Amino acid sequence: MMPDPAAQWERRTSIVATLGPATNSPDRIRALIDAGVDVVRLNFSHGTADEHARACELVREAEAATGRSVAVMQDLAGPKVRVGDLPGGAIELREGQRLAIVTATPTSARAITTSYTRLPYAVSKGDRVLLDDGALELVVEETRDGEVTTRVVRGGTLAEHKGINLPGVALDVPVLTEKDLKDLDTGIALGVDYVALSFVQRAADVELGRRALADRKAALPLIAKLEKAGAISALDEILHAADGVMVARGDLGVEVAPEVVPVLQKAIIRKANAAGIPVITATQMLESMVHHPHPTRAETSDVANAILDGTDALMLSAETAIGDYPIEAVQMMDRIAKVVESSEPEIFRSPTRARAGTAQSVARAACTLAHELKVRAIVVITRSGRTAELLSKNRPSAPMIAFTEEHATARRLALWWGIRCFATTFLEDTDEMIAHLERELIRRDLATPGDAVILVGSTPVIVRGRTNFLKVHRLKE
Ligand code: PEP
Repeated sequence: MMPDPAAQWERRTSIVATLGPATNSPDRIRALIDAGVDVVRLNFSHGTADEHARACELVREAEAATGRSVAVMQDLAGPKVRVGDLPGGAIELREGQRLAIVTATPTSARAITTSYTRLPYAVSKGDRVLLDDGALELVVEETRDGEVTTRVVRGGTLAEHKGINLPGVALDVPVLTEKDLKDLDTGIALGVDYVALSFVQRAADVELGRRALADRKAALPLIAKLEKAGAISALDEILHAADGVMVARGDLGVEVAPEVVPVLQKAIIRKANAAGIPVITATQMLESMVHHPHPTRAETSDVANAILDGTDALMLSAETAIGDYPIEAVQMMDRIAKVVESSEPEIFRSPTRARAGTAQSVARAACTLAHELKVRAIVVITRSGRTAELLSKNRPSAPMIAFTEEHATARRLALWWGIRCFATTFLEDTDEMIAHLERELIRRDLATPGDAVILVGSTPVIVRGRTNFLKVHRLKE
């Protein structure tokens, strides 16, 4: 038999799994985490506050039982434009027919409604209107107060409440709806670790999210979901404003042509890495596993290529939320990542363009030393998580094990490439702290006596400071 190249490999790319009816139970959540999920996504486009609260509680229980740090990401629905109610729940649209989209009650059977009251002012003659993720297509013929007249270009059955995409049209709406603000209160009360903002179009949208958090006395990291053409035009300013980004390929592939998505994915990942923030690649990664126990070869290649592009994290959506094989999908993603990472050295030590300075130079030196000396691990002592983040963006070939005092920091780092983080007590004296970490590494089965590791952090340990400390250290025999 061929040896399994990934058998001993510690996966570095993080896995984000969306919870839903297929996984909202104690056993399933535990199985997801056992299979390797690092971040759980609560999709607030669906489900009730009570369901999300219960799921969050189950994640925390599984986390405690497994001793692993798992982050919870609240994904806000955002200002998604949708079709309103339809008589009988659905209508048939024929190619060539006229269809009005109205913002009040429809007066004819040839009309549908939308809650986006600015629609007649946002679109103009010739603009495309896509319904149900692009399955149906309309073209705008005329606009007037309260109404847009269109002609059906691609027909089919339209069910009520399906999404409306307006490719290339800037949405004249706040990035946070009334519902989002209520959901944000819920998320903060639940103790989520990340908040993802949908349909971000500009840096000001991220700033709005930041203000909403500040108003609620919360300082959670914000992930900007890149799914509008406008977000791509404003990519540099969004990367500057956000704490992380998501290549939200579902909506993005409707807003821009699907064939453009792979090129955008590569550019976004490269720029996010250069900006020093984490990037998640999302949607349809193992889509056929929603109903089949095995992925297509194209899907395994897609997951592998996102890793080779340099993504921090891979995301599962329908596969784990409503799929028939949620645990198998995570196991498959885990296996693909291990094979790719263990056989493709070019993903390591990708040059980061983070500004030079003591912290960045120490982090880079730690990665070089770990690689050259083939140590067991880089052991990071981090308070805010910043040292671990800097190391992660340098993509070291050695595994990174971080220790922090804060559970919240340990969870947050679960999204970042290659970091396993544990909460522990910090000791004032550096030598005592090192002895304590030795015991932690052995107790947690992360190293054995005699192993060499690189220690990185700041000294004195107890003071929140800059990364200024690096030691090649051999654990006592
Ligand atoms: C996407 O559009 O790819 C995405 C991740 O967003 P959502 O699942 O919220 O539509």
